[in-house]
Parts: sequence; C-alpha cells; structure tokens
Amino acid sequence: MTLTEPRFPILTLEEGSLTPSLGYLFDRKWLYPYESLISILWKFEKANALSGNVVARLLGPDVDPYEGLVPRVGVIDIDRLRANLQVSRRSMRTALIQDEVRPRWSTSFRFCRLCLGYGYHSILHQFESLNVCPAHHCAVESACRRCGHEIPYRINVQLLEAQYRCANCLASYPNVYWTPSRARPMKPGHCKAFTRRYMDRRRG
Ligand SMILES: [Zn+2]
Ligand SMILES: [Zn+2]
Repeated sequence: MTLTEPRFPILTLEEGSLTPSLGYLFDRKWLYPYESLISILWKFEKANALSGNVVARLLGPDVDPYEGLVPRVGVIDIDRLRANLQVSRRSMRTALIQDEVRPRWSTSFRFCRLCLGYGYHSILHQFESLNVCPAHHCAVESACRRCGHEIPYRINVQLLEAQYRCANCLASYPNVYWTPSRARPMKPGHCKAFTRRYMDRRRG
C-alpha cells in the first residue's frame, strides 16, 4: 500500500483561530454614542454574516457560549474583542455595565423599538430608571409583546442569534432591520438627548 498525496488540500479550522486571515469587516462609523456591547456585536454579525455561535466564542476560550457573560467592565475581555472589532477602548468601556456608576442596571434586555430600527441598543436602555427613550420619547420595553418573555441581558448564543428579535419566539422588535448599507449617522438631536441623559445618570 502506498501513501498518496490528497488531490485537494484539506482545510482545517484551528481551535481558537476563528479570525479569517484578512480580518473581519467593521466600520467605526456604524457606531452610535453609548451603544451597548450586544448592539455592537449584532452589527458585527450582520456585516460579516456570522452566527451567534461564532461570535460568542470571541468572548474567550473559557466562556461557555450558551451560558455567556453579563457584559460588565472587568468581566468582558475588552482586548480580546478589540482584536477582532477595531472599536476604540473608550467605546468598548462605554458599551459595558460599569459597577461604579450609580443607576441600577436591569438584568433583562430592555429596548426602544424605534432605536432598534436604526440597529441601536444603548447602554442607557439598561438603566432601570429609564422608562422612556431619550430620543423617541416612547416606552422602553423588556417583555415581548407576542410571548411575554423577558430575555436575560447576557451575551450568549441565544441573544446573539436573536438580532433585533425576541430571543424566545423570534418576534421582530423593529419594523426594519439594520444592514451596513442602511447605516446612517445618529441624528444630532438624538445624540444630544442620549448624552444629556448619560451625563445625568447619577439622577437614579
Ligand atoms: Zn429610541
Ligand atoms: Zn417573544
């Protein structure tokens, strides 16, 4: 018996090296101020046609992708994510729950439907005291209107796969979905409203 060369090269996926050699596509201009980590990761998934399973693995080799992590400062490995996302350290920190900041943070995913139509979920929407979206003045919601579920605010496969939909029944939250071709800068008035509320966050 003789050993022969395979006719085609055998492609192997090395454990821990999920990054394609040319890197992922991500444009910082897509980011809005105070954008949350899940919002950033959904855009990253959309732009690169990635599954939640692949993106969850970017959290770290020791993180169970189905369990995931609460996106807090000190828990999320910012440098590891930045190696793939090229987002500034400052934007990455603002995207996370910071324990030293006073407001109470919701453990459920909270959202404004209109903001999600722009592909935007803000770290401000996670403030329990924020009942109304600073930009749209409509209610900040947490329960799905179809199935009533509240989804835990954890970066895991379930939430990453949901992409602007209920992670339980997949009901759509916004009327339109964000894509890179639909990306527009945030309206200055909205930007001002979020900034004012963020600066004033110690109000409760
Ligand atoms: Zn809004
Ligand atoms: Zn639902």
